[in-house]
Amino acid sequence: MASARVDLDGNPIKAMTICMIGAGGFIGSHLCEKLMAETPHTVLAVDVYNDKIKHLLEPAGSHPWSDRIQFHRLNIKHDSRLEGLIKMADLTINLAAICTPADYNTRPLDTIYSNFIDALPVVKYCSENGKRLIHFSTCEVYGKTIGSFLPKDSPLRQDPEYYVLKEDASPCIFGSIEKQRWSYACAKQLIERLIYAEGAENGMEFSIVRPFNWIGPRMDFIPGIDGPSEGVPRVLACFSNNLLRHEPLKLVDGGQSQRTFVYIKDAIEAVLLMIENPARANGHIFNVGNPNNEVTVRQLAEMMIQVYSKVSGEPSLEVPTVDVSSQEFYGVGYDDSDKRIPDMTIINRQLGWNPKTSLWDLLESTLTYQHRTYAEAVKQAIAKPAAN
Ligand code: NAD
Ligand code: UDP
Repeated sequence: MASARVDLDGNPIKAMTICMIGAGGFIGSHLCEKLMAETPHTVLAVDVYNDKIKHLLEPAGSHPWSDRIQFHRLNIKHDSRLEGLIKMADLTINLAAICTPADYNTRPLDTIYSNFIDALPVVKYCSENGKRLIHFSTCEVYGKTIGSFLPKDSPLRQDPEYYVLKEDASPCIFGSIEKQRWSYACAKQLIERLIYAEGAENGMEFSIVRPFNWIGPRMDFIPGIDGPSEGVPRVLACFSNNLLRHEPLKLVDGGQSQRTFVYIKDAIEAVLLMIENPARANGHIFNVGNPNNEVTVRQLAEMMIQVYSKVSGEPSLEVPTVDVSSQEFYGVGYDDSDKRIPDMTIINRQLGWNPKTSLWDLLESTLTYQHRTYAEAVKQAIAKPAAN
């Protein structure tokens, strides 16, 4: 299978070794799965956790890919083994980050260290050793749209020029320093600039990925089940948790913000194209999202309620949603991106990639997974206090 594979220009794809940092997370787990199932590449999987890739690692030696994946449990903050692993690999992919909004304003120091300081040695080792880097940034580097500063009734708000986000043209617009929400975006922006400068001044080969709300199975955690009870994950897991517990879904500041959601499996196809087409991917920053899947957070909640009822066979919630202020939900210093529509010109032109899955379909497969994985555990957790 693997030997017949060719790149977008018809050249055979050679097997490579990939040092994947953050391989045990949501995106990393899907990327490892794809690389093991469909390619001949070897993965040196680096993370502090491996729960989400255990199915690929265990039982040891039992999978057709067992000799192509190794797990290295290490914290890149302070581990001298990191440089050796980067040297052994042809390509490094850095996914490691603190990347849940609830942390940006409550743990701004950890957020800045994780997204900027901890990424510095990775960039340095790649540059010094002549290694290619694919670095995961975020769509949040765009911040707010230009349109959000126009009067509410301005017809210009309907003009795509004022809200579509373009890698090589849009400005990065963040809130004030007291709005610590932007600590993440700002740290990501600075590491992007550093990587870009390494490319410009030292010839480092790099690609930067800006994910636009990738969602799917294994995203984050369900509080009190496989994560802390008081933890606040990203919106898919928050709403899944509410649905599993038959609670109203909480709409922050009325759920008016807009997002475009892309299915993780579509997005992983884009990353694989970057991995296997270096001549087309190097030196570029790529938006990876699905501009056709735009909803307000309120609409997302309504759709998830409908889909969950279908896949679980349970009736819809009597009180489906409840409004909550951002201060109450996230604490002081929260702020929000108003709207995120990715321009797709660059990824289309360089890699011919387009997302395929509709929001309804991706929610159906994801909520089927959530129900199958968590419904019983949540039921037991709810029953416990009553039994005590
Ligand atoms: P995730 O939290 O599921 O995965 C990150 C992984 O990095 C975790 O497994 C974590 O243990 C690991 N990690 C963090 N710090 C580490 C360290 N010091 N040493 C070793 N491992 C460490 O997040 P994800 O959704 O998979 O996101 C991956 C990347 O994509 C992040 O850089 C994130 O900022 C970016 N991103 C993702 C999205 C999205 O839609 N999922 C959106 C924007 C940006
Ligand atoms: N949000 C919400 N209820 C929740 C969790 C999140 O209304 O229970 C909102 C949040 O304020 C934001 C959007 O959903 O407007 C997406 O949040 P997420 O945490 O997924 O990350 P973001 O897209 O902001 O990076």
